[in-house]
Amino acid sequence: MEGRELHEAIMELARRRGFFWPSFEIYGGLRGFYTYGNLGTKLKRNIEKAWRRFFVDPHGFLELDTPVLNPLRVFKASGHLEHFKDVMVECLKCHRVFRADHLIEEEAGLEYVEAMGEEAIRRLLREKGIRCPECGGDLSEPQEFLTMFQTQIGPMGGEPGFARPEAAQGMFLNFKLGFHHARERLPFALAQIGKVMRNEISPRRGLLRLREFTIMELELFFDPQEGQCPWFKEVSDESVKLITEEMEAEGFKEPLEVTLGEAVESGYIKTEWQAYFMGVSKRFITYLGVPPERQRFRAHLPEERSHYSTQTYDHEVYLESWGWIEIAGHAYRTDYDLKAHQKASGVDLTVRRADGSRFLPHVVEPSFGLDRLVYVALEVAYRKRDGRTVLALPRWIAPIQAAVMPLVTRDGLPERAREIWSQLKDAGLTVEYEEKGSIGKRYARQDEIGTPIAVTVDYQTLEDDTVTLRDRDSWRQVRQEASRLPELLRSYINGEREFDELGRPL
Ligand code: AMP
Repeated sequence: MEGRELHEAIMELARRRGFFWPSFEIYGGLRGFYTYGNLGTKLKRNIEKAWRRFFVDPHGFLELDTPVLNPLRVFKASGHLEHFKDVMVECLKCHRVFRADHLIEEEAGLEYVEAMGEEAIRRLLREKGIRCPECGGDLSEPQEFLTMFQTQIGPMGGEPGFARPEAAQGMFLNFKLGFHHARERLPFALAQIGKVMRNEISPRRGLLRLREFTIMELELFFDPQEGQCPWFKEVSDESVKLITEEMEAEGFKEPLEVTLGEAVESGYIKTEWQAYFMGVSKRFITYLGVPPERQRFRAHLPEERSHYSTQTYDHEVYLESWGWIEIAGHAYRTDYDLKAHQKASGVDLTVRRADGSRFLPHVVEPSFGLDRLVYVALEVAYRKRDGRTVLALPRWIAPIQAAVMPLVTRDGLPERAREIWSQLKDAGLTVEYEEKGSIGKRYARQDEIGTPIAVTVDYQTLEDDTVTLRDRDSWRQVRQEASRLPELLRSYINGEREFDELGRPL
């Protein structure tokens, strides 16, 4: 399955089995909002856990949880009020609105039109004779639209408030206290997972472009005079596919394959820190099931870059449905944000070097959209086998880790199966008990939601207390004593053991 058909199949599965579905459906729906069900919530949580495991825990970085709603002053100082805008056009006949760069991409078959800047967008709309794709009507002149949601804080004439479009400002506003909590030593990082909102002009492609989504963001603060990353050697031999700014500007589409060490040496990536996080990013995304050949890093051209960044690489993943899509931005934000907040607030945000000189730390930021990763993980895992759907999710992110099922619902098998289910739950595993329908149907249902292991209790179990373990991907089976399951399945789910090591082959 390819293209739109694959996307539709995943959206159908997601809704039917309870991963996610469009919000507000009983009121006719509203574009750009999705609701996660039981399986989606669990998958999302496992991806968050994986992110912490790669980005936060190994380095001892600090986590934060800051408000979604911020007063005007924050986004005035940060530059978002002036810059966080997209260009839109309206159909003069049916009054639908479109994001101009996306419309040009779709109608004229171009790529990365945002990177060409507003002037080019105006020109292309004219030159390509683009009309409303829905009704063929004439389009308005393009105009800028602020994509932050605005509200009022307090009952009457209070303070204008904005929903944050990124979590990063929370880290900058709390830099001083965070620095103190990090024992006043650089480098250190503040990390945050939280909701953000963007009033996207035309939300689309399900979870890929939402108006409310979860971001996983990290701001690494370092002294620009000491730009080395102490962990860089762990990733410097890792090879990555890069489309550099120069390649982008000259229209080269085939990425360069270099090690991260070479990329820093030749100046393709400006700081070791940024290269380090790109290496971790590649490993993280591979851990979520995306093979390295479906990953690349693409530099932003100056016009495309956010106002705060001097270099940005998007981490992109290839989807059968939509082609290359961005799943993370790696931005070198320099001291832009701290400088801006220092100026606007009048609070000194500098720190002191050993020689007494004072400076504003520089910042490197990896920023992931969690909802996109949920979709990516599902699409990459989606398989068809003998006409059935199998979600071959890496077992460490599967929402349900094992399903326990009695072969038949009589002769004491359900009772024994329920006991085993309880033991596995007590061992901290996420396990389902399932007895409805034939055993074949039950296996198929678990394959479809990506449960790596099915545990079957049969008549032999009553004799020698062994059970059958079935592998989702190969459909092979092994036999094992029930009492050993908690320990064995835990290590299997963590990736410390392979399926063949779980028991005697059948
Ligand atoms: P940005 O700050 O625009 O680079 O966004 C950071 C990350 O958030 C991107 O790499 C995406 O994964 C994700 N993202 C951005 N906009 C949206 C959106 N409208 N809906 C879902 N995810 C998004």
